[in-house]
Amino acid sequence: MGRRAFVAGNWKMNTDRAGAVALAAAVAEAVAGERPAAEVAVCPPFVYLDAVGQALRARGGAVALGAQDVYDQENGAFTGEVSASMLKDLGVTWVIVGHSERRHVIKEPDELVNRKVRAVLGAGLGCILCVGETIQQREGGMTDAVNAHQVRSGLAGVPAEQVGRLVIAYEPVWAIGTGRTATPADAQDAHRKIRAVLGDLYGPAAAGATRIQYGGSMKPENAAELMKQPDVDGGLIGGAALKADSFMGIVRAGNR
Ligand code: PEP
Repeated sequence: MGRRAFVAGNWKMNTDRAGAVALAAAVAEAVAGERPAAEVAVCPPFVYLDAVGQALRARGGAVALGAQDVYDQENGAFTGEVSASMLKDLGVTWVIVGHSERRHVIKEPDELVNRKVRAVLGAGLGCILCVGETIQQREGGMTDAVNAHQVRSGLAGVPAEQVGRLVIAYEPVWAIGTGRTATPADAQDAHRKIRAVLGDLYGPAAAGATRIQYGGSMKPENAAELMKQPDVDGGLIGGAALKADSFMGIVRAGNR
């Protein structure tokens, strides 16, 4: 154990420039004042990363800057895409890869998710690799197989020495943005099995040190119960990250 809780806000395609800066400032001020036990990051849209990064740094830099996605190539003729080195240049330290909205809405295949994970870790950035089953997969008894497959395929070719910068986010697709949350017991069961897959890939010490966040309608009211589970090491937060008060309520639940 001994894993520090990690709470990251995924703002998705929300906020405007002024709203993003105000939200970042409110979170950064609260974190600077309260010094919570959890590590905290916010992941604004690409276009607001620079402004949000400046707002975070101006308030002490205790809140990390994260990006919601990345492209796997370094530079070149890839219209509309953003590389890991461009993100690094803006002060980004975490990148979300394989979010369910990218897998299921934008139809990103496992191979691309894997290339993105390797690009992020290869650039020296932290990677939050999202995995999780759809409701059909859950009802078909495939939850564990889907999670194991997404972890294994996402990490294919990732060397052990880069795993220290990896975080897994278990996000059951049916719980994202729906108000339906996995029960603490269901989350713990999935997290324990994901950790076992990590153990199989990288050995028990690396698996024991890797943080696994839960994501899917986490809010201040259910966060403590979820984070009390032995294998739940924080949260990836969507809707509740768009208000500093509710986000901080979840961050505080990491004081376990
Ligand atoms: C997410 O988008 O990663 C997420 C967990 O969203 P929400 O908290 O809104 O369910």
